[in-house]
Amino acid sequence: MAFDKIAIAVDEVFKELDEHIERMTSKTGMKCVHLCGACCRKTDIEASPIEFIPLAAWLYENGKVDEFLTRLDQSDKTGYCVLFSPDAWKKGNWGCMNYEKRGLICRLFGFGYRLNREGVPELVTCKLMKESCPEAVAKARQSGIETPEEVPLFRNYSMQLYSIDPDLSIKQFPINQAIRIAIEKLYFQYAPELEHEIDE
Ligand code: SF4
Ligand code: SF4
Repeated sequence: MAFDKIAIAVDEVFKELDEHIERMTSKTGMKCVHLCGACCRKTDIEASPIEFIPLAAWLYENGKVDEFLTRLDQSDKTGYCVLFSPDAWKKGNWGCMNYEKRGLICRLFGFGYRLNREGVPELVTCKLMKESCPEAVAKARQSGIETPEEVPLFRNYSMQLYSIDPDLSIKQFPINQAIRIAIEKLYFQYAPELEHEIDE
C-alpha cells in the first residue's frame, strides 16, 4: 500500500480507538491526572513503526522532516521519546509535542485491556490513576468482566494495524527507532523531493 494510503488507514483506526476510549471513560469516569505525562517520562517505551506513519506524513506535509531528524538524533542520546517535553507541565501543557499524531501505545496506555489466561479482558492502567480515581478504575475493571466486547483491547487494535501493513506492524522497537523507521518509509516514497539523508 502506498505511504499516503497507509497514513489515512492508520488515522482511521486511531479515530475509532479515540472514540472507543471516550465511550469507556464516559462510562467509568476514568481520567488522567491533570498535566501528568508520567507515562511518557520513560526510556523504555516500545512501539511499531506503523503507529508513526501519520506523524511522518504530517512532518512531510508541513516541511518539517529535516528539523525533526535533527531532534531525533538528539533524543536518541537521552532515550526519551523525541516528542516528549519533560517541562511542558510548567507551561500548562501535557508533554507530547504532537499529541494528534501520537502512536497506538500512547493512546491505549492507562485505558487499554489485555486478555488474561482465561480470555477475560484485564485493564492495564497506571499507579497514578489507581490512586487518583480508584472507583473509576474499579468500574473499568468490572467492565472487562461484564461487557468484554465493549472494552478497547490492545490485541484488536494491533491486529487492525497489522492488516494495513504487516511489515511495519509485526515488530516493536524503542519508540524513537520506530519513529525513524516510519520516516525512512516516507523517504523511500518521496526521496526525490526530500533533501536530507537518513542514517542507516
Ligand atoms: S496514563 Fe497515567 S501516567 Fe499517563 S498521563 Fe495518564 S495518569 Fe499520567
Ligand atoms: S509520542 Fe507523545 S504520547 Fe507518545 S510517548 Fe511520545 S511524548 Fe508520549
